[in-house]
Amino acid sequence: MGSSVLTPPSTKSGDYIEQVMATVVAKNPAEPEFHQAVREVLDSLRLVLQKHPEYRAARILERITEPERVLMFRVPWFDDQGNIQVNRGFRIEMNSAIGPYKGGLRFHPSVNLGILKFLAFEQVFKNSLTTLPMGGGKGGSDFDPKGKSDNEVMRFCQSFMTELARHIGPDTDVPAGDIGVGGREIGFLFGQYKRLRNEFTGVLTGKGLNWGGSLIRPEATGYGCVYFADEMLKSRKDKLEGKTCLVSGSGNVSQYTVEKLLDFGAKPVTVSDSNGVIFDPDGIDREKLAYVMELKNVKRGRIREFADKFKKAVFMPTDVKLDHNPLWNIKADCAFPSATQNEITARDAENLLKNGVKVVAEGANMPSTLEATKLFLDAKILYGPAKAANAGGVATSGLEMSQNSARLSWTREEVDDRLHKIMIAIHRNCFETAEKYGTPGNLVNGANIGGFLKVADAMVDQGLV
Ligand code: NAP
Repeated sequence: MGSSVLTPPSTKSGDYIEQVMATVVAKNPAEPEFHQAVREVLDSLRLVLQKHPEYRAARILERITEPERVLMFRVPWFDDQGNIQVNRGFRIEMNSAIGPYKGGLRFHPSVNLGILKFLAFEQVFKNSLTTLPMGGGKGGSDFDPKGKSDNEVMRFCQSFMTELARHIGPDTDVPAGDIGVGGREIGFLFGQYKRLRNEFTGVLTGKGLNWGGSLIRPEATGYGCVYFADEMLKSRKDKLEGKTCLVSGSGNVSQYTVEKLLDFGAKPVTVSDSNGVIFDPDGIDREKLAYVMELKNVKRGRIREFADKFKKAVFMPTDVKLDHNPLWNIKADCAFPSATQNEITARDAENLLKNGVKVVAEGANMPSTLEATKLFLDAKILYGPAKAANAGGVATSGLEMSQNSARLSWTREEVDDRLHKIMIAIHRNCFETAEKYGTPGNLVNGANIGGFLKVADAMVDQGLV
């Protein structure tokens, strides 16, 4: 006899989670990052399924792990020598239960379907946590902007958007930036969209200030991550002032993390890029930060040059043979991973804990491996997972969309104030949800469950779509 779609499967919830996980792995082979992101969320949801059998009856887990739509397309373009180059473009439209798809575009040679699916999956829960009406998506290309001329980047962006424009729109799917996609790339992408559609709309966020962008959007992810760390510390009657902080990366998220740490009176001592780590025992002050911003955003140089300019700083080149990153083995109170996924291995986590780290706030997406995450949770340090700690970027993208719809611009203070309040609310939601589900202090469970409930309820309300 066939069972009704609203009859829960008969297995126990633990077995059921393992069945869903096994199906995800079988249906998405060779996508380890996607498996990792799903595993972390499903482990948290064990606690929810016991209380809410209706989600299992509606097969929410099977549906939420399957993208609503996956687009993959050819991106041909001419380089400066007149040679034809071909890249691969993607857009994953993961879930639109609570709003139009929203999430960044990543241009990096490592981009593939599995990495974008992990990012799109995480984005669904993150966007839900922001309290704003945004679904989840992610996209990008294996194009590497590094070493390309502005004209090459423009030709690539125009070709990429020529296909993407068919699929996006201000009420459908609103991309933003991510690794390798900053103000320059958003400008070229927006220009081509406008030309193709003959529409000036808020179809992308991260736009320039004089053509629809929002103040504080460039700063938002880094600022938000520091606001989140501040809230975590407050929950233990502690504060950022005077704390030594490790920051990885030297791109958008890292730069504004360093800036906000300085505002709070903390002492950031590191930045990095894929070629190595800068450690400055005197601290990275505003003058040194201005140098990093000029080096990375204008000259598009390498971080090792920092050590030529500031003599007390040490440069440690990347050694791919090492099983750890020396950046995470420097004595500090707080760590702000802000470069890329899985940059903190179990060994790195052990080093951080051995050196007495009290706070890990994730600016990058999924920067800690599952083993590293477990070590942080077991040690009961203040651990702010990415989908909560770095949600300030997409939250401010949501504020940019609101300003575009209302055709007005808020002041810097107003946007920053809203961002700060959103980060306080996200922390409170994660903190209280973790308590409610019997794991006080576990903000991983708090974020996964808090993000899930709103989306799952919307999916139940909207029927089988
Ligand atoms: P970005 O401006 O392009 O900077 C990325 C930084 O990370 C660069 O310093 C880069 O070094 C380094 N990096 C990238 N891939 C690396 C790798 N495989 N190994 C070592 N270093 C690597 O990008 P971003 O916007 O700051 O993004 C950083 C992280 O934050 C990503 O995980 C992103 O998904 C996440 N995030 C960003 C936003 C946002 O609003 N931008 C929002 C939420 C989360 P190289 O220059 O040498 O490549």
